[in-house]
Amino acid sequence: MLTLEATRSHQQDVRLGRVLVVEDEELIRETVALALSEEGYEVLTAEDGRSALDLACKSEEGGYPEFSSLDLIILDLMLPYVNGLDLCRLIRHEGNSVPILMLSAKGSETDRVVGLEVGADDYLTKPFGMRELIARCRALLRRHRHAHPQPEETTLKFQDIILYPQECRVTVRGEEISLSPKEFRILELFMSHPRRVWSREQLIERVWGPDFMGDSKTVDVHIRWLREKLEVDPSHPEYLMTVRGFGYRFG
Ligand code: CA
Repeated sequence: MLTLEATRSHQQDVRLGRVLVVEDEELIRETVALALSEEGYEVLTAEDGRSALDLACKSEEGGYPEFSSLDLIILDLMLPYVNGLDLCRLIRHEGNSVPILMLSAKGSETDRVVGLEVGADDYLTKPFGMRELIARCRALLRRHRHAHPQPEETTLKFQDIILYPQECRVTVRGEEISLSPKEFRILELFMSHPRRVWSREQLIERVWGPDFMGDSKTVDVHIRWLREKLEVDPSHPEYLMTVRGFGYRFG
């Protein structure tokens, strides 16, 4: 018997992901899919091994590119057409390390061992409770993300100034400073091209855009504000340098 337990959790300890449920028993497939989507996961279902492969869109080169869009696969062992073990083998053969939770009606040790040998990460014997299933899914996702961390965002760093482009954040000597959007844009431009000399006209073009109606004094004012926020001694700048007769330079 399959039991549906309350599995709602307000504790978002994992980034939610995309889960494929491959299970030929409709009641189990639907119950698992419902429990996962109630948890906030995006759920795809397939009723047998062949539909799972169809869903993964076999490419002309013979691979299954859609499998790599998944964060987790819940895979029944006994499936019509292509069984769970073969499917698991195939996914691993593609070099895909997506976590796989295998389900089986049989509770035999042999099944568990074979499942793990072909590359499944965890194994759950029917009947199981939804709370148990969700907990296993979370643990698998957490373990996988820990082992395969996302690349860190690209930061711009110059001596003790760090600019985080995606977060629109700047730290100077370890302290976060507050910049206006224009100041941020100027600094980002400077830090992306250290030591390049920018004329006032070029800065206006890149930061304010071609429709800017003011004059080049605006640039000088913004540079002065930036110096006050970045420099230890704004009257003797070490970062934002004046290049007499040309404009400004960073570094
Ligand atoms: Ca089955």
